[in-house]
Amino acid sequence: MDKPKSNCEENVSELTADESAPTEQPGPSDGESEAPSAAEDTSDTAAATSNTHVESSVRACALCNCVDRSLHGQRELRHFGPSSSRPALEPAASSLPGPGNDDLSSIGFSNSDASCLAAQLEDTGGSWVHHWCALWSDGVKQAEEELENVDKAVISGTQRLCEYCKRLGATIRCHAEGCSRFYHFPCSAASGSFQSMKLLALLCPEHIDKAEEMAGEEAWCAVCDSAGELLDLLFCTGCGQHYHAACLEISATPIQRSGWQCPECKVCQ
Ligand SMILES: [Zn+2]
Ligand SMILES: [Zn+2]
Ligand SMILES: [Zn+2]
Ligand SMILES: [Zn+2]
Ligand SMILES: [Zn+2]
Repeated sequence: MDKPKSNCEENVSELTADESAPTEQPGPSDGESEAPSAAEDTSDTAAATSNTHVESSVRACALCNCVDRSLHGQRELRHFGPSSSRPALEPAASSLPGPGNDDLSSIGFSNSDASCLAAQLEDTGGSWVHHWCALWSDGVKQAEEELENVDKAVISGTQRLCEYCKRLGATIRCHAEGCSRFYHFPCSAASGSFQSMKLLALLCPEHIDKAEEMAGEEAWCAVCDSAGELLDLLFCTGCGQHYHAACLEISATPIQRSGWQCPECKVCQ
């Protein structure tokens, strides 16, 4: 996967060199007159190539490892710079682990993926993360339009296993005091955890009985207006309302729960 880039760069610079220097200048100081123009050519084409390369390559979230248009409701992929003010370079997508797919089995990262990701982050200080994967993460704060500490979340994620899928990149912590379960965003819903969009907080299935205490009416099903069977609640990634699967007379498998949208939100799609 990494190889085509360098091949491509070579080809491009050869072409441009040929075009921009139509015929040899028969000057006596060959070495001197050619050297500066060659240097210019390489930097131009290198910049152009790396731009097109970044745009065309598949970019994935540094937490859940899904691509931008994922089915799990994480919202858009955004670039987050480092919290400190050192200059952020665009991370080279080519050296990151390949993105996962939408079937929940490849959410997050294996050990080797995660160390690769950590190294990447050290180099650039920036990363691509879904808006919601970042916003729900433990320690991330919303300040005005910006999210703070996303880089720290990514780093801690490279060492934290998801309770549900057992892979790294989990940063969303159960809100219950003393609970140390972490989840990826797509796995939050898949696991049957309770999610509050207002509080941006999650309760793991073990602590789901605290849902009403934590979120009040937000924990009520939009159909029957009660919390009822909490483990049966589906979370709409569009509006944040909850619905009992039974009240909608649908089944709720993990893959259906993840990125689920309620009948009202789904209308216009
Ligand atoms: Zn994500
Ligand atoms: Zn997970
Ligand atoms: Zn918990
Ligand atoms: Zn209900
Ligand atoms: Zn909805």
